[in-house]
Amino acid sequence: MNHVLIIGAGASGLMAARTLAEKSQSVTLIEARDRIGGRIHTLSSGFSLPMEAGAEFVHGDLPLTLSLIKESASEIKLLSGNRYQRWKGEWQTANPLEEDWTKLDRALQDLKTDTDMMSFLEHHFDQEHYSNLYDSVKGYVEGYDIADLNRVSAMALKEEWEESNDELQYHITGGYIRLINFLEDKLKAAGVSVLLSSPVKEIQWSEGKVKVLTRDGELMEGDKVIVTVPLGVLQKRDIKFIPPLPDHDQAFAKMGFGGVIKFLFEFRNAFWENKIGTPLKEMAFLFSDEQVPTWWTQLPDKTPILTGWLGGPSAISITKDKKALYQIALQSLSTILHYPVPDIEKEMVNYHIADWVSDPYAHGAYAYTTVETPEARRRILQPVKGTLYFAGEALYEGTAMGTVEAALTSGKAAAEMML
Ligand SMILES: Cc1cc2nc3c(=O)[nH]c(=O)nc-3n(C[C@H](O)[C@H](O)[C@H](O)COP(=O)(O)OP(=O)(O)OC[C@H]3O[C@@H](n4cnc5c(N)ncnc54)[C@H](O)[C@@H]3O)c2cc1C
Repeated sequence: MNHVLIIGAGASGLMAARTLAEKSQSVTLIEARDRIGGRIHTLSSGFSLPMEAGAEFVHGDLPLTLSLIKESASEIKLLSGNRYQRWKGEWQTANPLEEDWTKLDRALQDLKTDTDMMSFLEHHFDQEHYSNLYDSVKGYVEGYDIADLNRVSAMALKEEWEESNDELQYHITGGYIRLINFLEDKLKAAGVSVLLSSPVKEIQWSEGKVKVLTRDGELMEGDKVIVTVPLGVLQKRDIKFIPPLPDHDQAFAKMGFGGVIKFLFEFRNAFWENKIGTPLKEMAFLFSDEQVPTWWTQLPDKTPILTGWLGGPSAISITKDKKALYQIALQSLSTILHYPVPDIEKEMVNYHIADWVSDPYAHGAYAYTTVETPEARRRILQPVKGTLYFAGEALYEGTAMGTVEAALTSGKAAAEMML
């Protein structure tokens, strides 16, 4: 029987461990943080609801996620409420750029050879004449895909936009932590050991043998290893491979990994509901062109909580000072809602800022597809000498990129390949 070491106890590592343990493999999970779950991080105290510092939504009917929800007897809630948009100082009732977006969709349909989105736009749309379309595409791509317009694949965006269904978005009652706790229970029952607070710094390997060294000098030995740490960690080369893997290093660099800063603000009252001028009744989402542009509520749960989202290159370049970030977020809200900052502060009950860019065990939020991603991913997914395997959200090959589903699927696939 093989002894398998799995580096990283996020969704991917946990799912890989479960798959292997079910086939009676001996497994040790090695995790840098003092908790499991990785980029799933439900805050169970401090707010009147469990709040998500990381993954929050189930984006559509995603098979593995939904089957875990069912197995763990968890419940999901379909999001409800209205969407509001404020752009260039005006509330928008319809998309003013609908015609331009239709032209963009048409041009994308004819795309035969992949290119980055910026080059695609420049080729088809005169920047001066279509400057609003450029801003709109940039806002969407940076906000949702957290991607750099100069690197993101136009073909991948086209496929994502064809597949996406804004109507089917869910919250998990009690948060994503429920799935993590469920997997943890399964692993405990199967006798899988989980080592917390053990950041790995080196993996020495040869065919059929691995030695994993942590920063505290602990050494673990196994026959095979699955590395599930985030792409950001691999790109920064925080883990040293001996002998080195230069082809892998090149491949990691070719893939895209974006940043997110999430702002969780709980207030005394949902003051935006009674906003003078434009009351934002039953607000689900609020989109804007402010520095922290996107905000949402917890509807159908009627709690006075707003979540702010800053994604893409701006999340990487912005200050990392928490006090300054707090002020920037307040200022954005104040401008969007026409509500003075001191008044917003008076309403504040509690807040939390989750800066995934500064997180030492993520170095970012999730992956996006560059023109070079498919080739790079294929290379990384080839096991090295039947001994070194890679998995994780960034290495998933389907259409639910950057999701928990991607992580679960990839972890399961790596374990099945090993078996
Ligand atoms: C802000 C944010 C919002 C998101 N929103 C959504 C959403 O709404 N819906 C959705 O489906 N997905 C969302 N995602 C994406 C989702 O969270 C991820 O795709 C998924 O959780 C990744 O799982 P993983 O196992 O691949 O990686 P991770 O969860 O990052 O697990 C990898 C583990 O490796 C550990 N690690 C790192 N370095 C080392 C080391 N040196 N030694 C040992 N361990 C190490 C990490 O601590 C981590 O626990 C979001 C992500 C973020 C950050």
